[in-house]
Amino acid sequence: VANPPDRAKDDSSVGAKNGQLSRAGSLTVLRRTNSKSKLASSSSSRTSSIAESDSYASVDLGTDKLPPIDTPEASHVCSIRLRNILRRIQNGEVPKEDLYKNLEYAASVLESVYVDETSTVKDTTKNSIEPPTPQPKSSKERLTDEDDELSEVEPDAVPTEVRDWLALTFTRSMNNVRRRGQEKPKFRSVAHAIRAGIMVDRIYRRLSSSSTLHIPPAVLQLLKGMDDWSFDVFALNSAADGHSLKYVGYELLQKYDLVTKYKINSSMLDSFLLQLEAGYSKYKNPYHNLVHGADVTQTVHNILSQSKLAHWLTDLEVFATIVAALIHDFEHTGTTNNFHIQTGSEFALLYNDKAVLENHHICASFRIMRSEESNILNHLSREEYREFRALVIEMVLATDMSFHFQQLKNMKNLLGMPENIDKQKALSLVLHCADISHPAKDWSLHHRWTNQLLEEFFKQGDREQELGLPISPLCDREKTLVAESQIGFIDFIVDPSFTVMTEMLEKILTPLQKAARSEEAISEEVFDKSDKSKYVLSTPWADCLAINKNKWKEQAAKDAEERKRKEAEEKSKVPNSNTNNNTTKAPVPADKATPVVNCSTGKGGN
Ligand code: 5GP
Ligand code: MN
Repeated sequence: VANPPDRAKDDSSVGAKNGQLSRAGSLTVLRRTNSKSKLASSSSSRTSSIAESDSYASVDLGTDKLPPIDTPEASHVCSIRLRNILRRIQNGEVPKEDLYKNLEYAASVLESVYVDETSTVKDTTKNSIEPPTPQPKSSKERLTDEDDELSEVEPDAVPTEVRDWLALTFTRSMNNVRRRGQEKPKFRSVAHAIRAGIMVDRIYRRLSSSSTLHIPPAVLQLLKGMDDWSFDVFALNSAADGHSLKYVGYELLQKYDLVTKYKINSSMLDSFLLQLEAGYSKYKNPYHNLVHGADVTQTVHNILSQSKLAHWLTDLEVFATIVAALIHDFEHTGTTNNFHIQTGSEFALLYNDKAVLENHHICASFRIMRSEESNILNHLSREEYREFRALVIEMVLATDMSFHFQQLKNMKNLLGMPENIDKQKALSLVLHCADISHPAKDWSLHHRWTNQLLEEFFKQGDREQELGLPISPLCDREKTLVAESQIGFIDFIVDPSFTVMTEMLEKILTPLQKAARSEEAISEEVFDKSDKSKYVLSTPWADCLAINKNKWKEQAAKDAEERKRKEAEEKSKVPNSNTNNNTTKAPVPADKATPVVNCSTGKGGN
């Protein structure tokens, strides 16, 4: 929170900017329910009826018990208070602190109304296949236009294909209708959370009993590294004979004590995890396979535990988060949502072209969890089941990449507001970041994932070619500029996502750590040396991102030279031939040629 300004701003200019100042100086706060006719009549009335009915002397300017900012009562309270402040200013008797707090509250209410209003003015006519064209926008449009980050990208900052891919993959044409009620932040005081016993250090409580699963010693050894940022999931998968997902799932459900807490039957758990692995292996994808599932789950765990976000969550929320990560790409077909839509696949038909794969991942895994032999949820109460299911659905649906820009924007808006961050939104962003985290891991890991993903893209391109469909961006094995596309992916998608997540974690955890510190529950070392009140998050991803980006830059330069060389060679072979095809295959660079840089500084947190 910014420091209070030294001097209160001129109130008339504030009024003129944010509301309508009638001749009598009446400020009209608009809510979406106000019709135009109401607006006209209220702005012409000499004073607001609300203001008239509340006596000026009786209004308390304290800010402890104000209604939540996104409720109709908030507008009401604001109007009373602003009017009251106006009158008190005339008499020169408003304490600076009251003025500051009330103006800050009023600003938040207005921002909330503003977000509310603008979330309904989305353009529904845009075709997602077309890249967004930069156009001047009104400020109202800008707030919710998910494309604006893309339209800010200089046309020649990335190759057209990369831009097309960004537009096709990370934006959506359909209006993302906000489900009211779910967006609302939950208000819960830190003190209450602590009293309720949420601040329990349960992460490393581990029960050795209740387990029937035999874990090979080599696997056990590798599982010890699960808290590291650049955990080598490929090594685990080899040691685990291709069962990395099973062991990661098993290990984490034990680690967070969820097996005991939710009385998960171990043979059901075993069956559930094996069925998950079978589903991930169904389409033999180079990238969207069980190792990716294990990787994302381990990454989510790393973020929850290293940041200590897990302390903020209930057991049920931790359980839902781990399961959401485990299932998040279940039975992935190795093709994109757009491919499903373009080919009119069964899944596209079933889910009406909306979050096609994500809907399937969720639906198919809940089917498994409902089956008798894999029902890991059978000891949840009805309420727990409903909460668990709602959370898993929300989190996995939010891994739909076309929601990316909207998701970041929504979170940025929440960060600018004074109240708590909604848990579902927070956890969804954590899962989204984990899902795209490999460019923020050690180069050796990132490089391997890149090869696998590109191979999967190219296979889709091959199929598109066979079907006579246009080849999707990044899917043409002859033309795709791998290094450039990875730079674009890091710059426009991964980096901004991690930046917002970092801010979000700091916002959530600062008050929690402060409260914990006052109860001497957490040691001092997590606080910034200079500003003792600020919680400082360990961000191992930042270094990795920078290193990996540089490597791709070097690679891009090499690839460009290689293309030039080839072009020259072609020209010298066939004089006067006009090569209308100016792109050539840029092979994925050989891993072995590049020294592996270890940037896993995340071990041990701070
Ligand atoms: P998922 O499909 O795993 O749910 O979401 C991850 C998506 O992020 C991928 O489908 C792909 O669109 C994008 N993605 C992940 N890693 C990379 C990468 O290294 N390069 C590019 N270009 N896209 C990636
Ligand atoms: Mn994924």
